Amino acid sequence: QEERARRSEAMGRGGDTSELRRASRGAYLELRSKKKVEELRDEIIDEERMFGDVRRLDAEERELKRKKEIFGLVHGRASQDDGDGDYYRMPDAYDDAANVDQGKRFSVARRRHDDDGEARGSKGKAFSEQESWEDQQIRKSQLEFGAKDRGRAGDEYEFVFDDAVEFVKAAAIAGTELEDQTDELGDEIDAKAMLQRELQDQRKTLPVYKFKDELLKAIAEHQIIIVVGETGSGKTTQIPQYLHEAGYTANGRKIACTQPRRVAAISVAARVAQEMGVKLGHEVGYSIRFEDCTSEKTAVKYMTDGMLLREFLGEPDMASYGVVIVDEAHERSISTDILLGLVKDVARFRPDLKLLISSATLNAEKFSDFFDMAPVFKIPGRRYNVDIHYTVAPEADYVDAAVATVLQLHVTQPPGDILLFLTGQEEIETVEEILRRRTRGLGTKIAELVICPIYANLPTELQTKIFEPAPPDARKVVLATNIAETSLTIDGISYVVDPGFCKVKSYSPRTGTEVLLVQPISKASADQRAGRSGRTGPGKCFRLFTEHSYKEDMTDETVPEIQRSNLASVVLSLKALGINDLVSFDFVDPPASEGLLRALEDLFALGALNSRGELTKTGRRMAELPLDPMLAKAIVASERYGCSEEVLTIASMLSAGNAVFYRPKDRALIADAARQHFNAGSAGDHVALLNVYTEWERSGHSAQWCADHFVQPRTMRRARDVREQLEALLERVEIERRSCSGGDLDAVRKAITAGFFRNTAQRWRDGFYRTLKTWRTVFVHPSSGMARLDPRPRWVVYHELVETSNEYMRQVTELKPEWLLEVAPHYYQENN
Ligand code: ADP
Ligand code: MG
Repeated sequence: QEERARRSEAMGRGGDTSELRRASRGAYLELRSKKKVEELRDEIIDEERMFGDVRRLDAEERELKRKKEIFGLVHGRASQDDGDGDYYRMPDAYDDAANVDQGKRFSVARRRHDDDGEARGSKGKAFSEQESWEDQQIRKSQLEFGAKDRGRAGDEYEFVFDDAVEFVKAAAIAGTELEDQTDELGDEIDAKAMLQRELQDQRKTLPVYKFKDELLKAIAEHQIIIVVGETGSGKTTQIPQYLHEAGYTANGRKIACTQPRRVAAISVAARVAQEMGVKLGHEVGYSIRFEDCTSEKTAVKYMTDGMLLREFLGEPDMASYGVVIVDEAHERSISTDILLGLVKDVARFRPDLKLLISSATLNAEKFSDFFDMAPVFKIPGRRYNVDIHYTVAPEADYVDAAVATVLQLHVTQPPGDILLFLTGQEEIETVEEILRRRTRGLGTKIAELVICPIYANLPTELQTKIFEPAPPDARKVVLATNIAETSLTIDGISYVVDPGFCKVKSYSPRTGTEVLLVQPISKASADQRAGRSGRTGPGKCFRLFTEHSYKEDMTDETVPEIQRSNLASVVLSLKALGINDLVSFDFVDPPASEGLLRALEDLFALGALNSRGELTKTGRRMAELPLDPMLAKAIVASERYGCSEEVLTIASMLSAGNAVFYRPKDRALIADAARQHFNAGSAGDHVALLNVYTEWERSGHSAQWCADHFVQPRTMRRARDVREQLEALLERVEIERRSCSGGDLDAVRKAITAGFFRNTAQRWRDGFYRTLKTWRTVFVHPSSGMARLDPRPRWVVYHELVETSNEYMRQVTELKPEWLLEVAPHYYQENN
């Protein structure tokens, strides 16, 4: 009994966050299907079909449909298609499966599974392991039951449980099992030593290890080197260690290793700290926006490319660094591209600075050319054969197809983990939930499927889970964004499922909007993804698109971000770095001049540049804030309206992510009411965010308060973090911190408008809006407090557009039209 309780406790603890996430997703689901948005519903469905975006809306319906099909893991679509479930050939199902005809299509998998006993029998060893298997299953179901039970009974106590966890820990320390404890301590030390030995052995098996001396020699001889090697060969984790060991940090200078992605920076730093046997943040640390995990001691510093750029503002000679490694250069993020231009320049006047540009095989020549024919150091990869499978016909719904494929791989293929590429957090959460439901309750019918999501906003403590091997007999499926394409290498992947999409930022200079769009990937990306399955043995990649579409529809390479982005913040940073002549800046691939021009105009309208294109005082202040120029401007402008405290809070809330509220299904109405409470006076979503934060502060950052108000504590903590850092920066740019003390909300809204005047819209007919000046039809996002207002305000300013087949304004606030002339005379006077 006690054991079980303890286990469910342990399980429940791990389950907490996912429970929460599920709750918030559920909230969204219901929110969307609410009456008020019913009119939008059809469009949303269309939109989701079209872009295959998150299946929030009809996940439920589909689930119902599926429940009927699930037993025996019947392939949903296969049965719909009159049994014509031809997807791929599954070339080698278990070799020893006598009744499996190799090359038969998915219907085979289905039949095998219907005949479940035999399917397990065909695994050969299954019988001998039957006992332990069953044991495991029983244990699992107990654990799950416990977790579920608690989750259901205690939805509202989730946060209380956070506290309870601390309490349990404290009790354990005060416990009496002294003998046991010392024993455990001894064990722990042994385990540690063993882990360390293991890690050191592992390091030596990486492809880069054999080239260590050669590489160090090359680095000693040349100032700039391009390093090229397959993903997973050890570039990111090993090379900085080699340099550290070889004494490159002995002079007190650090090694910087830049990553385009936050998660990669954190994850790799954590790994390297572990390998070096040091605490993260000591000798090895990381630095990302709003989070600096380094110390005086730090010699190896992983950081986002954006952070190094930011440091460059204050240290144009990069004096703290002896080595700069621009890693993942092939990703060609904007910040990386600018960095490349800058370090090239710095290297000229700092001959002691070593520069490594590292890239996963692609485009090496281009970098070599850019760095005046710098030598290319190739680390021969170790890559096994990868079989590529395409769908026979195009897939209408890649999420459906992906789920089906994963499940079928799971039941038909020999051991080996699965990696599924999805486009974003919501999609990953949807798939996670569907997979869980579909495998739950199947008991001993199939082996356990361990589901590991990974995306940028996943809490750090959960991110490491993807690297943990699955328990024996279980299979791991990693649901990842593009991050697993080259930035992170997960060992043990034998199967890749690739829907062929990713979310990319695209900017239209014509309309001035920048949106995240789900788009087809390039051939180069598709090949990279496929390669993820062939690291530890022969792999298989299942592409959820046709061969024809690979050959004919996909571009060869991904367009560098700089050529598809809003350049305003780039231009602002460059101007702040003293680079005025943008046309002659050394870009690897220069952005379109149209885009540059547009960015200059934007910054001019925001008051960041004067008519000669020089940085103004406002612009200089804006450049110090690591925010989008519009948000930065709102903060700078808030000083004038005496409400910098309030706008700072709003900016922090906006930067902390979209998941502020959640809405459990069983208490949806209470959640709505709780939420409506923040919208008092219909002052708009920005002020609602302000209210949330202020009340949370007043509650003493109480978890109970969050629970009572259906607010996500994690988002709040992050907002507080962001706020603290922005506060420090505000001091640096000497913006006076003043509060309008809850009274003058117009001041707050004016400041927001001062930044976002470009994002304004006028109500047209009931329900929809048109943007000012650009005359695009836009809608209020269903998650907005404004969505429920009747009538809605005539004039609004919004934070961003979410574009699918329609465009939705997210975070909407009412404004008075006369403010526009006041805050943006240049923009609104000319032709209005
Ligand atoms: P590259 O940069 O060449 O792609 P990495 O240095 O990132 O290669 O990876 C080398 C090895 O280290 C891989 O086998 C990878 O699985 C492992 N590794 C990297 N990060 C982690 C981590 N956080 N946990 C466990 N293993 C990791
Ligand atoms: Mg790497």
